[in-house]
Amino acid sequence: MAFPTKATHQQTRAYNSALVLRALYDFGPISRAGVARLSGLTRTTVGDVVAQLIGDGLAREVGRGPSTGGKAPILLEFVDAARLVIAVDLGEQAFRAAIVDLRGQIRRVVERPVEGVDGDRDWQDLPLGDLLRDRYDVPAELANDSRAAALAIHLFSDPRSPNLVAIKVGRGIGAGVVLNGELFHGDGFGAGEIGHTVVDPDGAECRCGRFGCLETVASSRAILRRAGESARERGDTLLAARLSANDELTIDDVRAAMDDGDEDARRIVVAAGRYLGQAVAGLIGVLDVERIVLHGSVADLGEPWLSAVRDEAARRSLGLLSQQTTIELAPQIGDLVVMGASALLITAELGLTVAR
Ligand SMILES: [Zn+2]
Repeated sequence: MAFPTKATHQQTRAYNSALVLRALYDFGPISRAGVARLSGLTRTTVGDVVAQLIGDGLAREVGRGPSTGGKAPILLEFVDAARLVIAVDLGEQAFRAAIVDLRGQIRRVVERPVEGVDGDRDWQDLPLGDLLRDRYDVPAELANDSRAAALAIHLFSDPRSPNLVAIKVGRGIGAGVVLNGELFHGDGFGAGEIGHTVVDPDGAECRCGRFGCLETVASSRAILRRAGESARERGDTLLAARLSANDELTIDDVRAAMDDGDEDARRIVVAAGRYLGQAVAGLIGVLDVERIVLHGSVADLGEPWLSAVRDEAARRSLGLLSQQTTIELAPQIGDLVVMGASALLITAELGLTVAR
């Protein structure tokens, strides 16, 4: 392991620049004196950095603020459209690409179905980031969908929590972990891969080859498989009616049946929520983060799924820890994966990573 050495002049400049940018990003419009107060930098340093940022188009002057006795101070703000980011969600069914500004606002979206199209080598071990950087000569960042979404929830929600775990519960299950305002990858880039931890040793075979992984009991696939079995066995339930009308059940069908009083649907949903709660308890115990956010198609089930997750997580964790932790559905701030892809680049390139 290399021992860290003192910051170079260039690193100090980059750090100061990130501090000023963050002050503008989170608290603008704000005066130069205000930035100096927030950041602890001298007014001279702030003046130099601001001049550079204005030159780069990342900041601009926007009139004068109220006077506190002397001359009214000039206010500065961050320019949201100073750079546009191309964010691409490489989904299983479709690729979605969006042009996103530095505030996470999506300007344009295009979507193309994958339709079984594949690359030369099945995209196995493909150095996609290097290929993009080489071909287009622009910065490129990559992450999986649950990590990207966690970063989007961190960067674009207000107030911002320095630590959070965002769990995507859809066809698969994965968590993104943000610690001290930065995405935590783990030593082998595997942090948050909770979908294939075994929660039911006697359970069904998983697509990974093991038995009883979290995905086999708590993912949308698991819920829909059980709902389908129940509908076929019972034949006279609301789920069965939905199945015969649609050939294949969706999460919306399960929710609708549950809302209309179908007890089987409710039981299946609560059981899936409890299994997820068990995994959440493990995360709370290890990380002691205050905020757990759930998203993905299964999170659309809302209640009583959410209560089942909360109850089971509380039942299985140390009382004090679980009392301090909130488990909530993701804020409705937009397409989390696409916004997360832009958040990755924004935090990496502009240094907007220091937690509020
Ligand atoms: Zn598995």
